[in-house]
Order: sequence, then structure tokens, then C-alpha cells
Amino acid sequence: MSMSSDSSFPKNVHLETVPCICGSPHIDPKFSITAPDYINNIKGDFTIVRCSQCGLMRTNPRPDRNSIHIYYPSSYTPYSYQPQKTTLLSRLINFLAGSPRKLPDIPAGKALELGCSSGAFLEVLRDKGWDVLGLDVSSEPIRIAKSKGLPARLLDFSDFPPATEKYNLVCAWMVLEHLHDPRSAFKFIHDSLDDHGYFLCSVPDMDSLLFKLFGKYTSFLHLPNHLFHFNEQTLSLYLSHAGFQITRVRRPGSPTTLLKSVYILSSELNIKLLRNLSLFLLSRSPVATSVRLLLFVLSGPLNFSGKMEIWAQKSF
Ligand SMILES: [Zn+2]
Repeated sequence: MSMSSDSSFPKNVHLETVPCICGSPHIDPKFSITAPDYINNIKGDFTIVRCSQCGLMRTNPRPDRNSIHIYYPSSYTPYSYQPQKTTLLSRLINFLAGSPRKLPDIPAGKALELGCSSGAFLEVLRDKGWDVLGLDVSSEPIRIAKSKGLPARLLDFSDFPPATEKYNLVCAWMVLEHLHDPRSAFKFIHDSLDDHGYFLCSVPDMDSLLFKLFGKYTSFLHLPNHLFHFNEQTLSLYLSHAGFQITRVRRPGSPTTLLKSVYILSSELNIKLLRNLSLFLLSRSPVATSVRLLLFVLSGPLNFSGKMEIWAQKSF
């Protein structure tokens, strides 16, 4: 591992160059994506490389564990907690998505959520009779979850402790891609599960049509917050190495990833009409809401949502 400072980055950002989690430092010379931080607009470009050994893509070099927080300012979307208004769109989406999110057909028991944020999914589980615990890296969402009577604790995901409790279900929605060492998370999750317990997760999908079309402008690349960039093959590979058997792969819809990608592309290429259109379609107007509903329904089947959900059962 080597460290470097670069004047094109904020001076408190420390970059580290790391091999793939399979151990190989070798990268596929035919694959490279370079893009800036389109979310917070902090200066500096980041590159995604692909391991020539196992195919896993990673951000390399990347901000180290001590400086990644710079890319999670308080304005970072999942950290802003305006109470969610129940709109017609959110109700329709919940209905169409079969929300509360579908769960494996097992009796309610003990469930753990990594990256529980302010507890929306913990609430869903609790309402279905589960005994829940949420873990998150940030204290403000924990405070909100607790204020709703949900058990939640702070945990540093860059250094998982040995697992002490057993659960029947562990969930991590859009979390794995943020971790410096996803293998330590897989071990912690595996050790936290009862025999035949389920691990449910979602990640952005690098095989999605959205990424094939938008490339570096794809909104879900989310550099440099996303340190690993999975597809079905690489996530399945590492889950099976960790002792899981994949039981279900699904590509749920998303009403906004396409629109956000159009916004990034048109802003960068200065296509004002398209930029204004994408901004309008991201607004709360009834027309925009209807279009997003349509996108939500179509984006999953057309592989435009960029989101992949995997169920994995502990197999050994
Ligand atoms: Zn590798």
C-alpha cells in the first residue's frame, strides 16, 4: 500500500493505492473510467480499475480510512433527514414494489441491518414481527432511529468487531460498495448469522444498461464514496467465497438514477435543454411525478435502475 498527496485534491485528503481484495495488483489494461466527485463537487478525479484476476472493479487510488469522511459532508443525501412526506408517488411506488420490501419465506426472528440510517427498514421489519437491531457509521441517524424506539448502535464499518450475537437475517442496502474492506464485512455477516440464515443486500450494478450507456456520467458511480463496483459475477464470487449460496437476484426499479445520470451528462456537456428537462423531471410537479412513476416501473426490467438486489443464504 502506498500513500500519496496530490495538489489536485484537498490537502487533508490522503490517497492510498491498494491491490484488489483477491490480492492481485494487476489490472485489466482495457478498462478504466475516470470521473470527478459529481455529488459533493470536491476537487480531484478518481479512477475505477478492474482486477485482471477476479474481475472486481475498485476505485484506485482511493481516500484512506482517515480521510474518506471529507466526502461525507453533513449535506450528503442519506445524512439529511427531512421527514419523508407520504406522497401519491411514494404510495404507488411502495405498492408496485411490493413494499414493505419482500423477504425470504422464513418465520420472523432476529434481524440485523448494517447501514440502518434513521431506521426506515428496521421499522418495516419490526412491523412484521422481527426483533431488530440497526448499526450505522453516523450518529445523527442513530439518534433519529432511537427516537422512534428502534434499537440502533454506532459501529465503525472500517473495523468490524468479532460477531457476538446470532441473527436469522442480516440486511445491508447499498452499503457494501462504500466499505474499504468488504471481505471483513462478509465475514462479520457470516459469523452473525445462524445456520441457513439469510443475507439480503443491494449494490449498484456495473453490468446495467445505464452504465453501458452513460459510462463515467452514470450517477451511481458516486466517486469516491463508492470504493468497490460490483456486478452479479463479482458479488456472487465473493459471497460464495464467504460461505453463502445465492438464492435470488433481482433488479428493482429506481425512479431517479436515469434522470440523475442525464443531469450529470447534460451539465458536463453543457446541453442546457436536456439539463433543464432532467431538473424538471426530478421536481415535485405532477407531470414529473408521473414520468418518474413510469421510469420506476420500466427501469427494473430494462436494466436502467442500476440497482441489483441479492439474497444469499449461509451455506457452510
Ligand atoms: Zn481481484
